[in-house]
Amino acid sequence: LKMSDPVADNRIAVCVRKRPMSKKELARKEIEVITIPNRDHVIVHQPQVKVDLTKFLENQKFRYDYAFDESASNEMVYKFTAQPLVRTLFDGGHATCFAYGQTGSGKTHTMGGDFTSGAKGAQQNAATGIYALTATDIFKQLHNYKGFTVGCAFFEIYGNKVFDLLNDKKLLRVLEDGNKEVQVVGLSEDGVQKEKDVIEVIRKGSAVRTAGTTSANINSSRSHAVFQFILRKGKKVHGKFSLVDLAGNERGQDTGNADRQTRLEGAEINKSLLALKECIRAMGRKSNHVPFRGNVLMQVLRDSFIGNKSKTCMIAMVSPSMSSCEHTLNTLRYAYQVKEL
Ligand code: ADP
Ligand code: MG
Repeated sequence: LKMSDPVADNRIAVCVRKRPMSKKELARKEIEVITIPNRDHVIVHQPQVKVDLTKFLENQKFRYDYAFDESASNEMVYKFTAQPLVRTLFDGGHATCFAYGQTGSGKTHTMGGDFTSGAKGAQQNAATGIYALTATDIFKQLHNYKGFTVGCAFFEIYGNKVFDLLNDKKLLRVLEDGNKEVQVVGLSEDGVQKEKDVIEVIRKGSAVRTAGTTSANINSSRSHAVFQFILRKGKKVHGKFSLVDLAGNERGQDTGNADRQTRLEGAEINKSLLALKECIRAMGRKSNHVPFRGNVLMQVLRDSFIGNKSKTCMIAMVSPSMSSCEHTLNTLRYAYQVKEL
């Protein structure tokens, strides 16, 4: 008997992860509005008011490949999302895992682990994230592949521009040649030999991401972070694994009294997240036409959406509280549209 495995068996898998209530939410005595009744359903209990002013809960149910409740560890989420994709990398394909959701929903915690938040003192006993867990599995496999080496790249996309997190946020140019091959000119690739080396890369890049530096001072919730494992045979790229911590999906127009810069940022983020959804959907339809729309995030991840060896997993993060209900519904609808089950 073979267990079905949504991530290994499909080109696209979509999962949802609910984080626990935070200390702040508990202190505010917030109500939880999300329940996960089984391993693939999410229910939102949205408080509503009738015309006669009686209150009621409107329940909306969504189905995904997996749904993780607040008791799930990073290891557990990893096991059902990114881990099955490690094979794709060694098979010579392009594996991609996206963390999607509003700011504060747990994207960076899931991907980078707690020591990427930049918080001092959080170094010890910090939760290990998907970047490091993926590294462990890659090195377990690597000795079976003679002549193969691994490198890591870590960069940030903000305002449709690429900044190198392994080189002090240096602004990099993205070039597309006649064959639509995309090249990020001068992107750093740090060679890694063991898990510890990868942790060092994560630390270095995360510190640069959260610190304001000379070339760009970017709020990390308004940028996409792309962490890549590049598997090489000699000098040639054999496969890639991209782990993407997306910008917060809360909409520009929600920040009603925001300044012009913030509204422009919001519009740019919406545009790239919409393009992302369309690209993954096109991949699911095995369509030859992938709508990249001149978007840098789509350009640099181009190989993720084409070719029959590409596989993608999206983890949509939600916060449990009532005050996040509208954002959570937006997240759940988006994730549902990425792959209508
Ligand atoms: P995002 O990157 O989506 O803005 P973060 O990953 O920074 O959100 O998470 C916000 C806060 O919630 C952080 O302090 C983080 O440690 C905590 N957190 C997120 N998810 C979890 C979880 N599953 N378990 C425990 N704490 C979490
Ligand atoms: Mg974050």
